[in-house]
Amino acid sequence: MSTTTTVTAYAAPAPKAPLERTTVERRAVRERDVRIAIAYAGICHSDLHQVRAGWGGEIFPMVPGHEITGIVREVGPGVTRHRVGDRVGVGCMVDSCRVCDDCRAGLEQYCAEVPVWTYNAVGKDGQPTYGGYSQEVVVDEHFVVRVPDALALDVAAPLLCAGITTYSPLRHWKAGPGRRVAVVGLGGLGHMGVQLAHALGAEVTVLSQSLRKREDGLRLGADDYRATSDPATFEELARTFDLVLNTVSAPIDFAAYFGLLRTDGAMVNLGLPEEPVQVHLQSLSGRRRSMSSSGIGGIAETQEMLDFCAAHGVAAEIETIRAEQVNEAYDRLLAGDVRYRFVIDAATL
Ligand code: NAP
Ligand code: ZN
Ligand code: ZN
Repeated sequence: MSTTTTVTAYAAPAPKAPLERTTVERRAVRERDVRIAIAYAGICHSDLHQVRAGWGGEIFPMVPGHEITGIVREVGPGVTRHRVGDRVGVGCMVDSCRVCDDCRAGLEQYCAEVPVWTYNAVGKDGQPTYGGYSQEVVVDEHFVVRVPDALALDVAAPLLCAGITTYSPLRHWKAGPGRRVAVVGLGGLGHMGVQLAHALGAEVTVLSQSLRKREDGLRLGADDYRATSDPATFEELARTFDLVLNTVSAPIDFAAYFGLLRTDGAMVNLGLPEEPVQVHLQSLSGRRRSMSSSGIGGIAETQEMLDFCAAHGVAAEIETIRAEQVNEAYDRLLAGDVRYRFVIDAATL
């Protein structure tokens, strides 16, 4: 019979405090639960925003991590989708209401009751949720996806957030042959967005602060790579793109990027800055442009994205770290010093 387990984890004890080694309790598996031995956990910029209490409403102690891959170790009696030994992943959500219109449409991320996030949230049982910087996690089978054999667990981990967060809007805004897509920021999300937009058949341009990572961008599938520090970029690319995916974690000069959109083009802001942003709507109205945002993707679409990545040879480019390097990795991520995702090897916990 399953019992509660105590597992090693890395947690931030308080806002802005360094993460430290600790333990957390994982619940005994329920009817439809899967207990996963975590193999890898990616470090998303959202972890940084939340550990530093940048978005508001954070809960401490906090065990971040929502880019999780691992192996199923135990399943509840009612589980049908996964078996012991399966290679699986968990992203940003671990529960939702299941009955609202959005949940029924496979858009659990927009659940009317707000989904239960993988960490920094409170579960339907009233217990705080703890994320992937830990040895194990127990999750309802609906929120556990299959990692195809063609994807190694380390390079697959970042797909569970960075992958789906870029795949979902690329699909929704119909990136494909004949469509021009710009990806702003070549970081964790950006390097996935470039690969996915290219694999979907779109013409892709990277808009980065400098040309420092140009070779990488072209290798990842970009057709063009421009520096946003060069004003000529905005003149030369005026009215070029159908879709601009902005992955920058801080506010940028939105009007300048709206100018890059063709008539009916959309700028979709995936980066979630800590402060509100301001725009002049005139820069949109002139060409019926739109400004939007998008949150991760639903569970079925996450599975579709993983299968797409396996079929197209797409995966994250990672730097694997030991658990005790996590604070150093945060500083480097903040400084833009990562190509292109840090992934914690859970064996080092
Ligand atoms: P990241 O790895 O730090 O990448 C962000 C990139 O943006 C950097 O590599 C850099 O690229 C560029 N950048 C950074 N600061 C900039 C500045 N001040 N001005 C212009 N460009 C700058 O972060 P990430 O993990 O990809 O996450 C990016 C953002 O997406 C975060 O805000 C995160 O919370 C958010 N996010 C949202 C969702 C969602 O569902 N919407 C999901 C995951 C993450 P260059 O060096 O190429 O310029
Ligand atoms: Zn994330
Ligand atoms: Zn719902």
